[in-house]
Amino acid sequence: MLASIHDVSPRFESEVDQLVDRLDSHVAKRFAMLVVPNHWGDAPIVPGSPFASRLRAWAAQGIEMFLHGFYHRDLSEHDRPADALRARFMTAGEGEFLGLSLAEARDRINQGRALVEDVIGRRIDGFVAPAWLYGNGAIEALSELKVPLAEDHLKVWSPATGRQLATGPVITWASRTRLRLFSSLAAATVLRRAPLEVLRIGVHPPDVRHPALLKSIDGTFRAASRTRRPGRYSDLLER
Ligand SMILES: [Zn+2]
Repeated sequence: MLASIHDVSPRFESEVDQLVDRLDSHVAKRFAMLVVPNHWGDAPIVPGSPFASRLRAWAAQGIEMFLHGFYHRDLSEHDRPADALRARFMTAGEGEFLGLSLAEARDRINQGRALVEDVIGRRIDGFVAPAWLYGNGAIEALSELKVPLAEDHLKVWSPATGRQLATGPVITWASRTRLRLFSSLAAATVLRRAPLEVLRIGVHPPDVRHPALLKSIDGTFRAASRTRRPGRYSDLLER
């Protein structure tokens, strides 16, 4: 099983703390953090700041570090109406890497990677696009930049080698509307027993505000732990 905390940013510091404690109790330090360099353009990770030191300490404890977009929010104009619709309705505008050209995606990944690597003092383990949405520019930039690992909602792959490493949906929770909340609870209950070789579990900062959701997260880790061992994304590269 592979676990991750999404949207790691100074904006969600207290929520991320709570999620770190929670995941720690289930899988120790075998989980990944998806780090946003400057969430929505007004929550920058500043080198030398207390948050930056904490990120470095988490990385030193063996928590995997993925770059997770740059701003997270989609600030681009979409050329294709279908992309615009997909970005707006599926993600509430959070699909930053869906509409970027190759050059834009390359610049943003390079900038974000430089910042995060400076802060944590080592290479990032990979990249995950906000809302798991990748445009062609993003896909090409990741392979050109030889990023070791990436994932979307349905698979994990290595952009550096082109190898597909795992398949199957991520278990994740949504709380933006009651309908999404209830359907994510139902999906978690089914998926945690699915016969997948690799089970991925992703949690988000707003999850901590909903007791029913926290219960489902705990239940999912407990059910998965009965038959699976916690791993790291990088383990997939060695198989
Ligand atoms: Zn995110």
